[in-house]
Amino acid sequence: MTRLHDALIVGAGLAGSILTYRLTLAGQKVLLVSDPSAPSASRVAAGLINPVTGQRLVLQEGAKELLASAQHFYHDIETRFGINILHEREMLRIFRSEKEKATWESRTRNPAYHPYIDHELHDDPGINMNYGAFLQHQTGYLDTNTMLDTLHQWFREQDILIEAPLLYGDVSIESENIQWQGVQADRIIFCEGWRGQKNPWFGWLPFQPAKGEILTLSTDSMIPVQMINRGKWLLPINRETFKLGATYDRNELNETPTEDAKQELLDALGDIFLNRAAVRVTNHTAGVRPGTKDKQPFVGLHPEHAQLGIFNGFGSKGSLMIPWYAEQFTCHLIDGTPLPERADIQRWHG
Ligand SMILES: Cc1cc2nc3c(=O)[nH]c(=O)nc-3n(C[C@H](O)[C@H](O)[C@H](O)COP(=O)(O)OP(=O)(O)OC[C@H]3O[C@@H](n4cnc5c(N)ncnc54)[C@H](O)[C@@H]3O)c2cc1C
Repeated sequence: MTRLHDALIVGAGLAGSILTYRLTLAGQKVLLVSDPSAPSASRVAAGLINPVTGQRLVLQEGAKELLASAQHFYHDIETRFGINILHEREMLRIFRSEKEKATWESRTRNPAYHPYIDHELHDDPGINMNYGAFLQHQTGYLDTNTMLDTLHQWFREQDILIEAPLLYGDVSIESENIQWQGVQADRIIFCEGWRGQKNPWFGWLPFQPAKGEILTLSTDSMIPVQMINRGKWLLPINRETFKLGATYDRNELNETPTEDAKQELLDALGDIFLNRAAVRVTNHTAGVRPGTKDKQPFVGLHPEHAQLGIFNGFGSKGSLMIPWYAEQFTCHLIDGTPLPERADIQRWHG
């Protein structure tokens, strides 16, 4: 029997899961289909939330709104489900050169950066910092796996999660809606991560995926409480365990961990601190970030088929960006409010 839905969402990573949750709370009848045996970047990601990134210390566009929405959304999930997923921690940023230090000095003179970066140099005897370091504020990390496990369990209880692959050939586009395996929906919205670049309706969008690898390490030595970033980052999980990441590779797009990446990460650890000999690798994972050419997400409806939508392209910053963009897209789908221009896929259409 045909079932009527407002939307069929494809892909249950951070993008599809948060969008499904927001649409459902807004009263929409939504079904989420995702292949549990296929890789998901959200399951590998460290979930760092950091509004000022890169050697040039670039402030994320809309940082204030993105952060407020992310904090509000994750805290709401924590309260509703009785879990702990958002870990707010400062980040120690270590300079690798005088040039990086000079960039920081110029940023401290810009009031837009004041909520996020400290204007005083920081010192820590246990850490190798020849050129100095400073503290970043409003940083932290999201425990992506606990959040996704919790949301997926709730979706199962609501009977709105189908755990299977969706094949493009099984989707038929009608004049007013779409049909898939007996499901009829006003819209289908693709949240497929980097594999969305093969989507027959949205393949024209300039994806720029990048593979990344992360190590989980355990040690008996002292681990600092704050996160550390010196090009590569170190994320303390508890007294014995920390994560170390991440590599960046735009050529080999697959989810297979490599010895080269492991070595690159361990070398970077030696540049930061710790006696490397006292460290044991307990896990090594790889995933592919759904990056885009202009580093902005792909959000919106297909220019010719309004029954098809996309919510993708969150690159290295899904944890920070997805809650706010899911809110914007939800309002757009329900009330027709305009999308933020920087993310609207119309920017790439002729
Ligand atoms: C090594 C690494 C480190 C990272 N670190 C961070 C970080 O510290 N902070 C941060 O914010 N971000 C980080 N990211 C990026 C983050 O992972 C992404 O921004 C985010 O997870 C993207 O979520 P997504 O839902 O778009 O994609 P995904 O998580 O990849 O989800 C897509 C889902 O769609 C499913 N799917 C695709 N096609 C189909 C189909 N046809 N049928 C059914 N299911 C389908 C897939 O199986 C998958 O479950 C990192 C990524 C990597 C790889």
